[in-house]
Formats: sequence, structure tokens, C-alpha cells
Amino acid sequence: MKKWIAQRTNYFDSSGIRRVFELAANLKDPINLSIGQPHFDVPDEIKASLIQAINEGKNGYANTQGILPLREKLLANVQKEYDHADRRLFVSSGTSGGLMLALLAMVDPGDEVIIFDPFFVMYEPLVRLAGGTPVLVDTDSNFQVDLQRFEDALSDQTKLVLLNSPSNPTGVCLEEASVKAIAEICLKKDIALISDEIYREFCFDKPFVSAAKYNPETIVVDGFSKSHAMTGWRLGFVHGPSHVIDTMVKLQQYTFVCAPHPVQWAGVSALDCDISPYVEEYRMKRDRMYNGLKDHYELIKPDGAFYVYPKLPWGTGKEFIETAIQHQLLIIPGNIFSRHDTHFRISYAATDQQIDRGLEVLRKLVTKP
Ligand code: PMP
Repeated sequence: MKKWIAQRTNYFDSSGIRRVFELAANLKDPINLSIGQPHFDVPDEIKASLIQAINEGKNGYANTQGILPLREKLLANVQKEYDHADRRLFVSSGTSGGLMLALLAMVDPGDEVIIFDPFFVMYEPLVRLAGGTPVLVDTDSNFQVDLQRFEDALSDQTKLVLLNSPSNPTGVCLEEASVKAIAEICLKKDIALISDEIYREFCFDKPFVSAAKYNPETIVVDGFSKSHAMTGWRLGFVHGPSHVIDTMVKLQQYTFVCAPHPVQWAGVSALDCDISPYVEEYRMKRDRMYNGLKDHYELIKPDGAFYVYPKLPWGTGKEFIETAIQHQLLIIPGNIFSRHDTHFRISYAATDQQIDRGLEVLRKLVTKP
């Protein structure tokens, strides 16, 4: 242990992704299919609202829970969907900020948190940071929840379940029956349920279904990063039962203070922006990627987000990814998102030209060079 450094930092190992970026730093013309953010820029009208907010002097602290016009507009949409008697909402510094505060608000040392494997990279470290114990539950061969495995993993210590659909890294949307079953089990057993819905707009083949539809106590974390390409602007929101939201707001007061103030005004106009053309574009990119890979790789057709998660054709993730990088292609090894080193993640949030170049390399790499 290095001088001064706290024990809790041992739970964070960023070596895998860092290694990809270190290797990539030397590439002249990389084919970058590694990034988890939209390839389009923030729509002009949203940029204009941000600039206007800044020029109007909306640059000081905002309310801890977020500006009223944004909260009202978001909550109106939420209430239209669920009409829960006890549902409050606050604005967070990105979905990440919402996730962190949710876990800090609810997880005590010794509490177990169910995470479905593969999972978004932040979940395990954040649970540990809160003092909890992550309990990884493997999904089935289609990356759907295996309900028997889920029920077997529950114990008297289970405090919380983390759900993410559409999923990063698999791109899979959970079946409604599974969402319903998980939601109802949590409700019955008094287990908190966090639903990470940051990709909810990117559902291509069937309507998005939230656990909140079946469990009025669900804590939903969401944000503008993916839907509006605002990853660097740090705007998210959380809604759920008032006692949980109030506790999170209390924690926000002493940590993030508020989400970036002018960005919140841009968020108000973002809610009027029609993002359906982007979603349609990603549906076509999904088809392009899937059709280009399906005869060469073992993979599940993803129906959401902007990732595909094929099986490694040979070697370890590290070997395969290093070879891909030698061919200028940046992709992410699956063991960043899973305890199994069996798959790799491709992001198709890229131009069609980049996708085609990537496909060409991937078809070459089906057999070990
Ligand atoms: N959840 C998931 C599943 C994600 O993929 C991401 C971003 N990669 C986040 C949360 C965090 O998003 P942000 O903090 O930018 O809103």
C-alpha cells in the first residue's frame, strides 16, 4: 500500500481499459469501436440553449435538487408513464453521480448487491466504495436473466439489485417477463431495485420496459449522456420513493453540490428535441454490424444501446485485443465487464465507414493470424 492511500482504492482496477488506450495512443489512423458515447454531436438547439443560459448569467450554484423547470418537465414525463403516488425526482451530475449517490444512500457494510454479469464497469467498484459486497449473477447464453440463478443468489443480506436494460456491454434488452419477475420479487422481499435506464431511448425492436412499471419502489437512474450526446456535460436524473430521493439529495449537498447549472437549462430544451432520427440511425448501424459479423462470429443480435458483444474466436481477451490493435482496431476485452474472459465489446457508435473498416479487420481475425 502506498503512503496515504486509503484501502478502498484497492477495489478500483482500471488497468484493462487503460491498457487498451495506452496501446492505442501510438496508432496513426485508429478504427475506434471502443467508445461508449454517441458519434453525433449535441444537436444545435441544445447547444444554443446552453450558450444562452451562460450569457444570461445562469452560472452560479443551482438548487441542490436541480432547477424547477427541468425537474417539473422530467417528472411530468415520468408521472405520465407510471402515476406512482410516491415518486420524487432530482437532477444529478450524470447518471454516474446518480448511481453513486443511490448506492451511498442505501448500502451499508455487509450488505449484498446483486449485479448481473456482464455488467457496466462502474457497478462493482461503486458497491465496494459504499462498503457493500457485490454478488455477481451470470446471465444465460442470450444475456437474459436466469431467474432461478437470481433467486438462488438472494440471501438475508441482499439489500439491493442493480438492473441495466438495454445493457452495456451486451446491447441486450431484458425480456418483459424477466423485468416483471425481478421487480415483483424485489417488492415482495423488500429489496431495493435500481434500474439504470441510460440507454432506454435506444431500443430497436420492441418497446422499452422499466422495472418501475411493476415495482413502484424502483429507483430509476437516467441521463442525457447517450440520448443527447451530452456525455461531457454531466447531466442525469434519478426518480424513486421520496425517502430515498431525499437522502440522495442530502448526500448531493455535501458531494456534488448540484449538477452543472447552465447545462440544466440546456436539459430543459433537450427534452423538446426529437432524437428519433438518431435512434433510427443506430438501428441501421446495429443491422450493419450484426449482418457483417453473424456468419463469422458467435454473437447474440442486440436489440438496444449501441454495442455488440461477440464471443472471442480464439485466445484470451488480451491476446485478441492486442492483435486487433496491431490492425488499428480498438475494441474492449470482455473481462472488463465480466468475471469471464470469453467475449469482447464493440461499439457501433461510429461512422459507417469506420464500422466497415472494423468489420474488415474482424473478419480477418476470425482465425489467429
Ligand atoms: N450506466 C451505464 C450502463 C453506462 O453505460 C454509462 C456510461 N457509459 C453510465 C451509466 C454513466 O453515464 P453518465 O454518467 O455519462 O450519465
